[in-house]
Amino acid sequence: SFQSSTALQRIKPSPTLAATQMARDLKAQGRDVISLGAGEPDFDTPDFVKEAAIKAIRDGKTKYTNVDGIPELKEAIIAKFKRDNDLNYEIGQINVAPGGKAVLYNAFVATLNPGDEVIIPAPYWVSYPDMALLAGGQPVIVPTTQERNFKLTPEDLERAITPKTKWFVFNSPSNPTGAAYTREEVKALTDVLMRHPHVWIMSDDMYEHIVYDDFDFTTPAQIEPGLYDRTLTINGVSKAYAMTGWRLGYAGGPQPLIKAMAKVMSQSTSNPCSITQYASVAALNGDQSFLIERNNAFKERRNLVVDMLNEAEGLSCAKPEGAFYVYPSCAGTIGKTTPDGAKIASDEDFTTELIKAEGVSAVFGAAFGLAPFFRVSYAASIEDMREACTRIQRFCASLK
Ligand code: PLP
Repeated sequence: SFQSSTALQRIKPSPTLAATQMARDLKAQGRDVISLGAGEPDFDTPDFVKEAAIKAIRDGKTKYTNVDGIPELKEAIIAKFKRDNDLNYEIGQINVAPGGKAVLYNAFVATLNPGDEVIIPAPYWVSYPDMALLAGGQPVIVPTTQERNFKLTPEDLERAITPKTKWFVFNSPSNPTGAAYTREEVKALTDVLMRHPHVWIMSDDMYEHIVYDDFDFTTPAQIEPGLYDRTLTINGVSKAYAMTGWRLGYAGGPQPLIKAMAKVMSQSTSNPCSITQYASVAALNGDQSFLIERNNAFKERRNLVVDMLNEAEGLSCAKPEGAFYVYPSCAGTIGKTTPDGAKIASDEDFTTELIKAEGVSAVFGAAFGLAPFFRVSYAASIEDMREACTRIQRFCASLK
């Protein structure tokens, strides 16, 4: 009979994908469901990007490429790092893979030995711990608090570092909280890392371009050039350019690491889709002004959602700087009972009863390593967000 490997037995399937699937299933049964589970913008890929892909197909750019990316794309990425982050990379320091997810995974596979520790602040993007486990490493989860807007303090980081620490995973703006670290907050963490030269930094900057109120985005290697030789700065086209389905992520880092990651790719995925790569050249080199309009729409939704959730009985919601998520606490509902007689003992109970009662789907906080909270994605129309929050308020008011 079938038995999965012991490595696979160490991990669980992605809970965010499970939540979106449940919403899809209920919809298929004819239920009126609003899904707040999406990890992707509701906008479409910009037309100029689509046109570049169509041209690539017409021009016959449909064959294998360099394993870790075509030179034109690497040049566009180098220009992006220079333009946005004041980071200088050479072509041999750039990796391109089928998604930011693949970049992270390949970096773990290329570097982790059994027992190597990976520091991951919680709440975290669901894939970090499981990817580290799959690659043979040991996640070290460091909780943050709502009071500190879910940001890791330098003291927290200092305490988590051991002689076995290989990586510190840093994600700002964060999935699932939307929290983004200011320049000073990044500096406080890089100061700690300067004292521990064996620790490498994996900076996941996927939501860099989705920030509000003139937030000044910065990344560790930019703030502390002393960390440049041990930092992998990761980004991608999925979120900023609404290209989640195209599958392309990239990173800049020290050449030996980049080479090792290409070696992993050479015996696993090979190159990311050739057509996607040409589309991404257009995305990175093109006019970026469409982002302003989209961010304005996201900001309006964020403000609405934060206000409405804070009016719901038993919830409290911080106002984050970026991404398209909020991470409200449902601590005030724990111990209550629904009109149907179901007891809310955890954030998972909260989201399960919420979708049953009101057809609103969200992902429970335990999945992201910090309870009792839940994640709301506001990558949906303002009308849907208003309706969803009205339903959440009604659900909370119904609890006794
Ligand atoms: N990092 C974070 C924090 C994310 O939220 C995601 C996607 O949800 C990714 C990385 C991976 O994105 P992709 O593989 O689509 O590039």
